[in-house]
Amino acid sequence: MKTVDIKALLAGRKLLIATKHGKETVIAPLLKNALGVECIVDPSFDSDRFGTFSGEVERLHDPVTTLRNKCLAALNENACDLVIGNEGSFGSHPYIGVIPADDEWMMLIDRKNGWEIVARELSVKTNFAGMEAQSLSELLAFAEKVKFPEHGLILRSSPKSQTDIHKGINDLSRLTDTFHRLIQKNETVYVETDMRALFNPTRMNVIGRLTEKLINTIRSTCPSCQTPGFDVVEAIPGLPCSYCGLRTRSLKQHRYQCKQCQQEEIRNFPNGKEQEDPMYCDFCNP
Ligand SMILES: [Zn+2]
Ligand SMILES: [Zn+2]
Repeated sequence: MKTVDIKALLAGRKLLIATKHGKETVIAPLLKNALGVECIVDPSFDSDRFGTFSGEVERLHDPVTTLRNKCLAALNENACDLVIGNEGSFGSHPYIGVIPADDEWMMLIDRKNGWEIVARELSVKTNFAGMEAQSLSELLAFAEKVKFPEHGLILRSSPKSQTDIHKGINDLSRLTDTFHRLIQKNETVYVETDMRALFNPTRMNVIGRLTEKLINTIRSTCPSCQTPGFDVVEAIPGLPCSYCGLRTRSLKQHRYQCKQCQQEEIRNFPNGKEQEDPMYCDFCNP
């Protein structure tokens, strides 16, 4: 079987990072080190037109479509054939609910080789939050909880207000000044975390982990056609109970599939465990 040297296909090439929020500080060193690419940023690239967290621009599509559109726009605006983009969403955890989550996606598009590779990191490590503050003490208590001033804040008169919106606040005097100005005109002031990467080190860490995940996915090649991005498309439950041998709901297999040639592969026991504890068995411990 022929094998493909991924690094040889990427080393020395210009890779455009489609960001305007400083994400290259964490993404670029990891990619350069792992793949030998030369990372570049286009300072005139406006990623905000694809949606903003603070709602001035509504995101029109799902994260992967948005990400693809962003990457393709960046390629078209630059003389480049290799791009990486990232898209994050914040809100209630999609599976667990109640707790806030940071759902991050990252995509690499290589026009020269015809690759589109996607990775996702769903993290509960986020300071994502917002509240109506009636007093400075309420505001400062919130600020401390969300790790201000290392993490930036946004202030406005109400959660949806698009006028008089103050973003990227990361020092105490600007926070109190802005609060006093807004509270003179309104009964409450809405404060929320600024989720743009350069104002949010916690998010920047998640983006770092996501970059490492993407690098691993790039290195995972199809056993048949060698296209990178050979990845899990299905998690199959049914790990047998170690006491009664019946199927449990725990993960037994991963199904991998190649996007290029549809080749499939089942890999057993991805968590390194071949049997489940009877504690998680619906028969032994209903
Ligand atoms: Zn394939
Ligand atoms: Zn059992």
